[in-house]
Amino acid sequence: MHDDLAASRETMVERQLIARGIAEPCILNAMRRVPREAFLSADLRAWAYADAALPIEAGQTITQPFMVARMLQAARLKPEDRVLEIGTGSGYAAAVLAEMVARVDTIERHPQLAESAMDRLRALGYHNVKVHTGDGTLGLLACAPFDAIVATASGPGVPPAWSAQLEIGGRIVMPVGPDPDHQRLIRLTRDSSTTYHEEMLDLVRFVPLIGAQGWGDMGGR
Ligand code: SAH
Repeated sequence: MHDDLAASRETMVERQLIARGIAEPCILNAMRRVPREAFLSADLRAWAYADAALPIEAGQTITQPFMVARMLQAARLKPEDRVLEIGTGSGYAAAVLAEMVARVDTIERHPQLAESAMDRLRALGYHNVKVHTGDGTLGLLACAPFDAIVATASGPGVPPAWSAQLEIGGRIVMPVGPDPDHQRLIRLTRDSSTTYHEEMLDLVRFVPLIGAQGWGDMGGR
């Protein structure tokens, strides 16, 4: 089983990432190292390298492998970067980030998701990731500024708190838009203390970003 999954992981890197234009060795190697099966419930482990988002606790999803790679590519990460991830979920994307950059802070609004992600990341030996519980639409002032902020949930627009907590030259990558079925993946780059520019990258589909600078509470989703 373990060897089968290792082989499936390599096939995922070749067919889902390299074949679709992910060429950065740092991303490919990070995704070769992180066992996605460790972030899934036992009954879903056999599907760990399927080309899909999969359900996790609290009605949320673990992001499709290609989309994790695409977002990290869009964030133009460097090894010395400090990164804030919004929407820890299973902890999978945080682990991939931890393989690539110096320091990762990740924040999750569902306490039980944050707790199990923390346990998994600790068990796998990631010491450069800190999991926080709370409303990530407010960013994480205590740990700011960040070289990159990556959100794996989609909001109505870039929360002002994130733009303010971004280093000059820093990048925000997030899905934006009101339609639950598809959103625009955008990159906002901070050019100076007062100026930013935004690029539209792809059409994507993510769960909603719920919070003070996101969507309102949607009945506990
Ligand atoms: N990166 C995750 C994807 C999880 S799905 C993974 O690899 O598994 C997105 C997550 O964003 C969900 O767990 C959801 O609960 C969380 N989320 C939504 N709004 C949030 C907010 N305001 N602050 C923190 N987390 C939020």
